Amino acid sequence: MIKINIEDLEGALNNHVENVQDYINYDALENRERIYIEKNIEYILKAKPDEFEDVIMKARQNNIDNNRLKKAFVGGSKYGGSIGYSKFSSKGTSTYNAYDLAQKLKVNICPYCNRNYTFTIKEKNSKSTRPDFDHFYDKGTYPILALSFYNLIPSCILCNSRLKGRAKFSINTHLHPYKDSFNDYAKFKLKVLDSKFYYDEKSFEIKLETKNNKAKKIKEDFALETLYQEHKDIVLELIQKREVYPDSYIDDLFQQYEGTLFKNREDVLRHITGGYIEDKDIDKRPLSKLIKDISEELDLI
Ligand SMILES: [Zn+2]
Repeated sequence: MIKINIEDLEGALNNHVENVQDYINYDALENRERIYIEKNIEYILKAKPDEFEDVIMKARQNNIDNNRLKKAFVGGSKYGGSIGYSKFSSKGTSTYNAYDLAQKLKVNICPYCNRNYTFTIKEKNSKSTRPDFDHFYDKGTYPILALSFYNLIPSCILCNSRLKGRAKFSINTHLHPYKDSFNDYAKFKLKVLDSKFYYDEKSFEIKLETKNNKAKKIKEDFALETLYQEHKDIVLELIQKREVYPDSYIDDLFQQYEGTLFKNREDVLRHITGGYIEDKDIDKRPLSKLIKDISEELDLI
């Protein structure tokens, strides 16, 4: 998992909160519930990850019925049709929708797996694509958070639909991509099994090590260590590059092409490793965390 970094977070947040309110079906609520939700709607939609539990608890304390909340915030065939999240996420919705949010966020790599691209393309008369929006707190159990900005995690379809499935996430059990940097808590490591590891993928394994319990849950629920075994070819190339490119050669490359091909030494290292290797850049290309961690271990960077 990689922390979501957004240039204009405030802009995206305010735009979302302003526009998505129109999709809440207040008529589905009892009068006292409606008054409560209307009064607190900004707090609900803008709630930071650390405030989610408070939003949920206060709705319970005020006896807001979950089924009516589903009809107000979620929609879909069982809960009143094209309203709430159902309307927001529908391709046919011509007013503000999930494509607009995705376009504003520009999260181009899945923050959960750092393996798949999640570009947004929205053009008239053309095919469109966008990331899925995973509900960090699932919308079936917590409908009050179905439209809340920080509960909508842009992610790849595999992480959202295939891997997370019905796993229960909470701020107390899992790292949150808007709040926490997995990069601080977990590291990919090479586990060498025998001396053929220079040319044989069967001779090593990739480990994802962490001592943090919330990072462990992310690792397990998205099967990260298992999936990353499928990227051994990249790691094998790094092992071989370490042999082929001694530090003196990297220095020579930099001196030779500084100002023409390469702006700085980072550019040379990206050219060699194939990944963005600075911490702030690992959300720019798939597998950058794997490449960075293993390259560090190999003393390549
Ligand atoms: Zn993913």
